[in-house]
Amino acid sequence: MLQTVDAGALPRLRMYVGGEWVEPASGTWLETVDPFTAKPWALIPRGNAEDADRAVRAAHAAFRTGPWGKMHPSKRARILFRLADLIEENADALAEIEVRDNGRLLAEMRHQIRYVPNWFRYYAGLADKIEGTVHPCDKPALSFSRPEPLGVCVAIVPWNAPLLLLTLKAAPALAAGNTLVIKPAEYTSATALKLMELVEQAGFPPGVVNVVTGLGPEVGEPLVTHPLTRHLGFTGSTRTGAHLYALAAKDVKRVSLELGGKSPNIVFADADLDNAVRGVVGGIFGATGQTCIAGSRLLVHAKIHDAFLDRLIAFTKTARIGDPRNLETKIGPIANSMQYEKVLGYIDIARQEGAELALGGRRPEAAECGEGFFIEPTIFTGVRNAMRIAQEEVFGPVLSALTFEDEDEAVAIANDSEFGLAAGVWTSDMKVALRMSEKLEAGSVWINTYRDISYTTPFGGYKKSGIGRENGIEGIREYLQTKAVWISTAAEIPNPFVIG
Ligand code: NAD
Repeated sequence: MLQTVDAGALPRLRMYVGGEWVEPASGTWLETVDPFTAKPWALIPRGNAEDADRAVRAAHAAFRTGPWGKMHPSKRARILFRLADLIEENADALAEIEVRDNGRLLAEMRHQIRYVPNWFRYYAGLADKIEGTVHPCDKPALSFSRPEPLGVCVAIVPWNAPLLLLTLKAAPALAAGNTLVIKPAEYTSATALKLMELVEQAGFPPGVVNVVTGLGPEVGEPLVTHPLTRHLGFTGSTRTGAHLYALAAKDVKRVSLELGGKSPNIVFADADLDNAVRGVVGGIFGATGQTCIAGSRLLVHAKIHDAFLDRLIAFTKTARIGDPRNLETKIGPIANSMQYEKVLGYIDIARQEGAELALGGRRPEAAECGEGFFIEPTIFTGVRNAMRIAQEEVFGPVLSALTFEDEDEAVAIANDSEFGLAAGVWTSDMKVALRMSEKLEAGSVWINTYRDISYTTPFGGYKKSGIGRENGIEGIREYLQTKAVWISTAAEIPNPFVIG
């Protein structure tokens, strides 16, 4: 059961601060809407600066004076392992909530949430293996370094994969010994709150993990600017990320930013075309195109353009669109009404720019789609890379197809973007694949696959797609700082007026 405070028509959720379930200081709530029915199903607390302050102070107290700060990393790891087990046991319930909030396919969310415990286990395993270094110091001294946690970390996440994206931050931050305040997206706060029930059961001391909910400027920004916050881990749009980066810079806070993308999926003439079609479709129509890594630009070799587009369109037409809870559905609704309007707006822009609509572009007619925020999978051909539809992130099921004549041109088009999150390459020539992987400006390059991520493998963006890396050993370094300790071995302090 989600935490509620009354038995009215809609459940009213509460925030989790300092180990307690609390109501918002404002005394007001926001509706959270099921995008399949377009109807609200719960109310989430509308947090403000007072709630943010309470949460950051609770996290700071837990770090400074609570048992967490003194706890041996092996013991912290045991709590993280317990949390992983609890998420596994509750994965299907968490998936149901996530689907209700953001309309992602139940089949996909079950799979995704069953995969989430891997992050907690991976970083729990690392917690007691974070070692310092003894330096070969050239002075009469023993010098060594200690990796230490930063203190209060703030995690601000979007609505497209709420639990997964907060896990990418929470697991390394906690394993490293920090404390945490999470601010989920206003459209999808329910799973983060449900997770706090499991955090409580796992045995985290009060204040180590906190969740405040509400609107970004009202409750998110005060978390970032709070004087006791030491780190911001943000996933969301490049626009908001850049704004928060500037705010964090004022107080010299550390940041990691996972931002937008306009990723190219590049198909060479010698590719296994069946696999390439599946990869291109999964890359742009999986999650209804609402992923940062969406392969939203198809770069296809001119020689196979028409034949490939025919196959792509035929395969896309087989995808069932409708109720995300039906396990046969392949394409669900857009997650919220604002995003729905934005995607339709980009379809108009593409038409005005002279791109040719080869598929979709409208609301589907199936009765099942009802009032939900549905848009047909949409493909534009004849796109030039300078068009807005090829440069701006749509974050929806809209693919722009472009052509190239050779490897150099493919690289030039792919890299002609302010983003650099990911890229896909489809070819059976491994020399081409390796050359492309070197030349593409992207944090992830997939060869003959697309949209793969793992807790073991660093993920992050080049250019305006972000700063820092999540996952793998690199992921925990974001949440540590190095302290150098010097112990003199000199019998007598040398000349105190000369340093060096
Ligand atoms: P968004 O930037 O509007 O919001 C993200 C989060 O920031 C939300 O929790 C929101 O409430 C909060 N926020 C908004 N304004 C804020 C402010 N002034 N102060 C503090 N917090 C604020 O993004 P969105 O529309 O929710 O998410 C979609 C974006 O996320 C896309 O651009 C997508 O590419 C990106 N994304 C990136 C990754 C990645 O790993 N690179 C993953 C998923 C999504």
